[in-house]
Amino acid sequence: MKFVLIQADGMPDRPLVELEGKTPLEAAKTPFMDQLVQSSEMGTINHIPKGMKSGSDVGNLSVLGYNPEKYFTGRSPIEAESIGINLEPDDICYRCNLVKIINKNGKEFMDDHSAGHIDTEISRKIIGALKEKLEDAEFKLYQGVSYRHIVVWKGGQNNLETTPPHDILEKNIIQYLPTGPGSVKLRDLMRQARIEIKKLKNLIPELKNSDCSDIWLWGQGKKPTLPHFKSIHKINGSVISAVDLIKGIGKLSGLNVLEVDGATGYLDTNYKGKVDAALKSLKKGDFCMIHIEAPDETGHEGNYRKKIQAITDLDKEVVGPIMEGLKREHNEYKICIVSDHPTPVDIRTHSYEYVPYMIFDSRLNKNNHNKDTFNERSANESNIVHDDGHRLLGSFLKS
Ligand SMILES: [Zn+2]
Repeated sequence: MKFVLIQADGMPDRPLVELEGKTPLEAAKTPFMDQLVQSSEMGTINHIPKGMKSGSDVGNLSVLGYNPEKYFTGRSPIEAESIGINLEPDDICYRCNLVKIINKNGKEFMDDHSAGHIDTEISRKIIGALKEKLEDAEFKLYQGVSYRHIVVWKGGQNNLETTPPHDILEKNIIQYLPTGPGSVKLRDLMRQARIEIKKLKNLIPELKNSDCSDIWLWGQGKKPTLPHFKSIHKINGSVISAVDLIKGIGKLSGLNVLEVDGATGYLDTNYKGKVDAALKSLKKGDFCMIHIEAPDETGHEGNYRKKIQAITDLDKEVVGPIMEGLKREHNEYKICIVSDHPTPVDIRTHSYEYVPYMIFDSRLNKNNHNKDTFNERSANESNIVHDDGHRLLGSFLKS
């Protein structure tokens, strides 16, 4: 038995006036998902436990079968894992964003959480210089991609309050700076970084016009320990994604993290490369998760046309070829399509509604719903509801 899980990140949405009351998923052309659902179990599921924040970190742990209430220790230690940082048990890992903070009438505002999606090569110069000036026995900096970097605080404090910079756009930063035990050290690090970045802008001409003014520290946590996928489910598996966070969860769970050239996490990603890598991995292993980021990104952009495009592409370039490939190469297989959380275009951030899922089993030709479309409405009208999303993977993998 072969198992493919397609994770359509942030695909679920809300009815939009611009689409005459349809959601982007309802408005998109999805003949393959609609065909598949007619012989599938369909229902709704929740991957964000009560009291936790709706994020891809929490959501993807749950999608991969790990109870976030038990295993989630913060976002940045998962990302650290994916870029090969070996965290010690007493290390506290922080996400370090390069950001743009502006001063208006003596008050400081978060203008851009990504420093204009700063180019990785330019960020390398900034992080390189900051390493030289700021690193000591306690604090170490690590280069990531674009605006996303890591600070590790040896023997640091874990119970500080920090705030994601994308949640405070255009807001006065004063009440969102780190607070709690030891926060003085973090604020000091951020203050020193500002001075160094300013100096650097005068020294390196190409940095002069960059949107980076500061670093912002948040998303802290200790290294999480996940029981390995294989020890739980007794099969080998792989994960395919463009996103560091998902690769990090894959590594921590002992899955093979497959690299695909041209995987971007956006509309221009290499869909064919991902599908080919998935089908190839299933010649040896039994499970593959394909993560598609574009529905989430286009939701954050607040662009329903692009989100419809992302979902139409997902259906045509991933779901269709996976159905075809599995049918051609394997006798028995199951396909699960699910999302970690909704990313509605009208609010441009994640929300908490239950998301649709379907499970297709090539040996069965039955459904529980008599619907011929896969979307939020159909799933809500079917009769299955999973409150504990992390349990879905186990039941999907029962052959
Ligand atoms: Zn997500």
